[in-house]
Amino acid sequence: MAAYEYETHTYDVVVVGAGGSGLRATLGMAEQGLKTACVTKVFPTRSHTVAAQGGIAASLSNMGPDHWQWHMYDTVKGSDWLGDTDAMEYLAREAPKAVYELEHYGVPFSRTEEGKIYQRPFGGHTTEFGEGPPVQRTCAAADRTGHAILHTLYGQSLKNQAEFFIEYFAIDLIMSEDGQCQGVVAWKLEDGTIHVFNAKMVVLATGGYGRAYFSATSAHTCTGDGGGMIARQGLPLQDMEFVQFHPTGIYGAGCLITEGARGEGGYLTNSEGERFMERYAPTYKDLASRDVVSRCMTMEIREGRGVGPNSDHIHLHLNHLPPETLNLRLPGISESARIFAGVDVTKEPIPVLPTVHYNMGGIPTNYWGEVLNPTEDDPDRVAPGLMAVGEAGCASVHGANRLGSNSLIDLVVFGRAAAIKAAEVVDPESPNVQLNQASVDKALDRFDSLRHAKGGTPTADLRAEMQKAMQDDAAVFRTEETLKQGVEKMTTVAGKADDLHVTDRSLIWNTDLMETLELTNLLPNALATVVGAEARKESRGAHAHEDHPDRDDENWRKHTLAYVNGKVELKYRPVHLNPLLGHNEGGIDLKKIAPKARVY
Ligand SMILES: Cc1cc2nc3c(=O)[nH]c(=O)nc-3n(C[C@H](O)[C@H](O)[C@H](O)COP(=O)(O)OP(=O)(O)OC[C@H]3O[C@@H](n4cnc5c(N)ncnc54)[C@H](O)[C@@H]3O)c2cc1C
Repeated sequence: MAAYEYETHTYDVVVVGAGGSGLRATLGMAEQGLKTACVTKVFPTRSHTVAAQGGIAASLSNMGPDHWQWHMYDTVKGSDWLGDTDAMEYLAREAPKAVYELEHYGVPFSRTEEGKIYQRPFGGHTTEFGEGPPVQRTCAAADRTGHAILHTLYGQSLKNQAEFFIEYFAIDLIMSEDGQCQGVVAWKLEDGTIHVFNAKMVVLATGGYGRAYFSATSAHTCTGDGGGMIARQGLPLQDMEFVQFHPTGIYGAGCLITEGARGEGGYLTNSEGERFMERYAPTYKDLASRDVVSRCMTMEIREGRGVGPNSDHIHLHLNHLPPETLNLRLPGISESARIFAGVDVTKEPIPVLPTVHYNMGGIPTNYWGEVLNPTEDDPDRVAPGLMAVGEAGCASVHGANRLGSNSLIDLVVFGRAAAIKAAEVVDPESPNVQLNQASVDKALDRFDSLRHAKGGTPTADLRAEMQKAMQDDAAVFRTEETLKQGVEKMTTVAGKADDLHVTDRSLIWNTDLMETLELTNLLPNALATVVGAEARKESRGAHAHEDHPDRDDENWRKHTLAYVNGKVELKYRPVHLNPLLGHNEGGIDLKKIAPKARVY
């Protein structure tokens, strides 16, 4: 057994992750009087949330009529009828409150002339249950909304005496024999010491796993660590086959150009200079939902109408917009286009390509953020002591496809909900339990064996192999053949995890070891993605299957559960069809959100 000394810390709640969701949960828990620690592998304001540009959705009606039910309808339709109805209702209803709360915490939103929060149009956000014109629902702080939110929430968390453990890498969860989460084991990167956190509630807020792919808009730190920890405890991951490709990553660099660019009037053209989205989505055109626009772009390229010497990308035009608008509303992306594509957006189009952007799937939870460990008899059984929020979780409000600006609102609505629930289930007066030593030892043994791994495959090589397999065979276009191939390739890649080679054996700022731990987290996420995709014989949202082009509600309106332990075992659980409020109590009329064809 590995001999590591460690320091033990005792808290009511430990939140792993300091992105928007982790900070909103941390702040909420601290406000409720729970003794709360936030453990994060990067400095809080360097979390990927800082990169969010376009904005946060809420039906404030500041720029024209809007209603939470319209927001809910758009989210249901955006999810391609895979989202859980209760969670989507909770999101849309709580959204305005959550945004005003952010405003009062100090988020510097852009303003209308009357001084209200500025809102811009975003893809898939409409009025009148999809019958009316696009709505301006996305609240923005210029094109740096995530930056503004993250800095504000960090300041508020400090003010409320939350304690931060910064540049601590969480290795694994500590679980009792009977499945109660008791805490987490972490490695302090700066000095190499090990820290054991004993907590009555652990909240995983570790973000997405975009880095399982070769080209992603997400930070290099987005390695699905929470999903990895969950899989190693024999708990399932949900709906992992649904991966969002953002239509406008900068060609080559992968950096994001926000959908807000099209919201402000930008449009896409092919090699013939044609605004091709008018052909595919006559009503909403360039502001159809992301999966639709990404697929149309891919189609244009496959049919030979891509731009550039290799006809392999698409043009995004902003050059017709007034320079003052670009300056005021889109200053950040104007700069990104200059740096990463050498383009002056006032004069030339930006070269763009669909790029991995968001993971709809994740750790299954209810709308309070409590992690689910479903059984046949009880598909909503809660795993005690464990919550997941943000992109790491799957509540599921995004279903098969997330609408733009619905993630930032998901972070704060469910971060807040988790705190409300924790105040109910965690008793600050009760003593913490004695930790299951076997579980602590298991985590440290895994850490030690990776630290001394002396196989034949360097971490960077295996990571590259995984990223290529996922990019080639589990991307926008999927067929029986590519997906089968993807499963085979990823099975081979995952098999090589036992043959990893780590060169640096030290404990202080050992990035070789850190990247290896991250790779062991990316692998189960990637495997669940491609195996879940291969099994799903239909097209729904981001999962567009060329051999099964139609959505099949009869057989496939259900959540995939992937148990990853070397190989993947798939099970399914039903979608929640019931809303929280009945129609008579002011809730939505179920007829309004009944499944139908998804056209924009
Ligand atoms: C470029 C870009 C632009 C976007 N723009 C928008 C937008 O305009 N509107 C919108 O709604 N959505 C947007 N999104 C999506 C949205 O920003 C993300 O889904 C969201 O910010 C994720 O937040 P999070 O709190 O779940 O995780 P993150 O912000 O990714 O934070 C993860 C946290 O977990 C910590 N962590 C991870 N693993 C460990 C570990 N092992 N040990 C300790 N700590 C760990 C990290 O340190 C970090 O603090 C955008 C995404 C990208 C990539």
